[in-house]
Amino acid sequence: MNGAVLVSLVGVYLTDWEIIDIVVGGGISIFIIYSAYELIEEGVLVLLDRALDDDTQSQIVTIIEEEHSVNDYHCLKTRTAGNDNFVDVHLVFNCLISLMDAHRVSDKIEERIEKIDPSKDWVINIHMDPYDDSDINNQ
Ligand SMILES: [Zn+2]
Repeated sequence: MNGAVLVSLVGVYLTDWEIIDIVVGGGISIFIIYSAYELIEEGVLVLLDRALDDDTQSQIVTIIEEEHSVNDYHCLKTRTAGNDNFVDVHLVFNCLISLMDAHRVSDKIEERIEKIDPSKDWVINIHMDPYDDSDINNQ
C-alpha cells in the first residue's frame, strides 16, 4: 500500500494527472474495507456457535453407521464454538449387549470422531439406548 501511494504521488508529480491519486486511493480503500470485512466475519463466526459443517457431520454419521453393534442413532446434534466441537447423539444398541461392550463401542466411536480433526477439542456425549426411543425424544 505504501508503495502504491508513493507510485501515485510520483505519477501525479510527473504527469500532473490527479486522477492517479484518486484511483489508487480508491483501490486502497476498497482493499482495506475487504480486509476488515474478512476479519469481522472471522471474529463473528468464532463468537457465534453453530452446527458443524456438512462434511464433518457426514463423517460422524459414517463412523456411527460403520459400527455393526449400533442398530441406529437419533438426536444427533453438533455445535462448534471457538476451538471446541460438541457432539451429542443417541446410539441404539441391541438390548442384549452388555453395558461393558456398549461402553467400549461408544469409546471407539468417540476416538474415531476426535480423529476427524485432532486440532479441535471435542466434547462428545453419547447416550446409549437399549431400544429406539426417538419418538419420545423428538416430542
Ligand atoms: Zn434416544
